[in-house]
Amino acid sequence: MARRHSQPEAEREIVLECLQQRCPTCGSGLWNKYDNYRTIRTLDAVVRLRLKVRRCPNSNCERYRRVYRPEQESQWALPQHEFGLDVIAWAGTVRYQEHRSVSEIHTLLEQRGLSISLRSVGHLLERYDELVATSLSDNPQQQARLEQQQQVILAIDGMQPDVGHEVLWVIRECLSGEILLARTCLSATHETLAELLRTVEQRLTVPIIAVVSDGQHSIRKAVERALPDAVHGLCHFHYFREAAKPIYEADRHAKKELKKRVRGVRKIEQAVCDANDATSEIVQDYCQAVRSALTSSSRPPLDASGLELQQQLSAVDQSLARIEKKGHSLSRL
Ligand SMILES: [Zn+2]
Repeated sequence: MARRHSQPEAEREIVLECLQQRCPTCGSGLWNKYDNYRTIRTLDAVVRLRLKVRRCPNSNCERYRRVYRPEQESQWALPQHEFGLDVIAWAGTVRYQEHRSVSEIHTLLEQRGLSISLRSVGHLLERYDELVATSLSDNPQQQARLEQQQQVILAIDGMQPDVGHEVLWVIRECLSGEILLARTCLSATHETLAELLRTVEQRLTVPIIAVVSDGQHSIRKAVERALPDAVHGLCHFHYFREAAKPIYEADRHAKKELKKRVRGVRKIEQAVCDANDATSEIVQDYCQAVRSALTSSSRPPLDASGLELQQQLSAVDQSLARIEKKGHSLSRL
């Protein structure tokens, strides 16, 4: 299809790495061969994906030189598509749950800041219909392709276009990038998800060796139940976020406790605000230092704001101790 609109500029870049670092066929370390770029228009932003594409370096392997693309790619968009999978899921949901017409959906998308032609909205809905009708058993070519690769790696993701909407669950195959199943579900219990995984497994004629997901509790339980032999990997982003969670919680707690100890700063400020002597000025400066330490914020998990607050308050404390040591006193306050 000829493009009518020129592609808008990306607002941010996201680097996608391959979760699988070894060739699924021979086990050799996959080589990072090149970066591939795709610009995707999602509901929230125009995103440039930088894909770290890998290949198997083993000349005796069936997958020798065959590309292995990052598993998360097909979570963003269907192959050859410039609109994100979230836009397709949203359009389909609004069409079938809210019974909106194509032109209404077009207006709503434009209102969300997504520049799109009326014809493209029609295409989005066609893709949505194809998605939810995806059935492995009716697709012998797809079956044959999967049989050729002898094994599959599944990725499972839930897409909720807006709060209150049904979630579109999509199960993809990572080696081929193909979508094997897409279903809308109101609930995301582990039983429902296990049922979806079992449906895919029953239709496949090759074993599922691994599952990739964001590690949501219900998905973990569903994989354990439905595919006990498959390895379950978390995508890097979610893995790091999970790993940092206990540290983040401890740091947040420490910050809360530290804040309690310096609550009296306001009273001290009030006590000296009318006095114009040098001591009051010094006290006010200290209060200001405490205040700015309290309001500074850092981004978890790489910066621990509780630790930072502790360091800043310690510096104030040490400075006060030095004054005391020199024989001066601010204790009248
Ligand atoms: Zn290989």
